[in-house]
Amino acid sequence: MIRRKDGIHVDVGGATGTVVADARSAVGDVNIVSHAHADHTFRRTPDAVCCSATTAALVEARTGTAVEFTDSLPGIELLPAGHVAGSRAALIEGVGGHDRSVLYTGDFSTRDRAYLSGFDPVPADVLVMETTYGDPAYRFPAQSDLEAEIRDWLADNDDPLFLFGYSLGRAQKLQKLAREATNRPIVASDSVLTVNDAIEAATGVAFDAEPLRTDDLDGDEIIVLPANQARSDWVADLVERVGGLKAGFSGWAVDDSFLYRGGYDVTFPLTDHCDFDELLTVVEAVDPETVYTHHGFDETFAAHLQKRGYDARPLLAGQRTLSEFA
Ligand SMILES: [Zn+2]
Repeated sequence: MIRRKDGIHVDVGGATGTVVADARSAVGDVNIVSHAHADHTFRRTPDAVCCSATTAALVEARTGTAVEFTDSLPGIELLPAGHVAGSRAALIEGVGGHDRSVLYTGDFSTRDRAYLSGFDPVPADVLVMETTYGDPAYRFPAQSDLEAEIRDWLADNDDPLFLFGYSLGRAQKLQKLAREATNRPIVASDSVLTVNDAIEAATGVAFDAEPLRTDDLDGDEIIVLPANQARSDWVADLVERVGGLKAGFSGWAVDDSFLYRGGYDVTFPLTDHCDFDELLTVVEAVDPETVYTHHGFDETFAAHLQKRGYDARPLLAGQRTLSEFA
């Protein structure tokens, strides 16, 4: 039985009991955290979490709360999900006392990017997948072309450049691209630096951004900031004072409205999620009997899968029971 309430609940039964993934409240017998984005972590950290060591380190760094974790349990295999540092999908086996398997993706990307390897799908009977960009309008350029375009833009503009992306994920990739493209100083906000330090301590991948001091900019800097600050007053004041260009990075950049909403001068569809075609490729590789979609274009993508002959449906919040294992 699989349902979506607060997070995704899978009733495995047997010794495992109920597996709960990416919930705000840790009510499962096993509680999985797929990655350290705030909307996937617990309000109060439970006694034991099933996650990667890097995710535990990132949650500790961002919340100041110690995390007891395990990355291996009988019947549960964590697989690199390629979304952000430490992100994992979970292959849950022996579900319902039968020889059935459920693959839960969490947020994921199949693209190799910077220090991340893309998600490598494995076969499963049931696939529970994140479908943020599960609409055919969201097809992104090849990663190498996209990164070359971003590096060219970084190298061609001498103004102060303000780059906006999530503190965990896009912000690190933007620092890597900026360093590949130029020798200019890179500065970042505290929230980005906190994540940099945690990733470096956990994985050895280093970043060379210095702390942003808003009163001490000489105009040569590349400034990496959290996406949620793009419209903030202090950023508006800073851009007015030192000049420069604002760039937004997200899969939503495919829509013109993303540029206007963020007040950006330029946008690039750099994302940590799969695009529509990549989602389809993953379904084909997993070859499941049933697909449950969640997040973003969950209904649209399930409908596309149905047209292709799959038993697929959105895992809507509040629906109690969607599947019983025979
Ligand atoms: Zn995420």
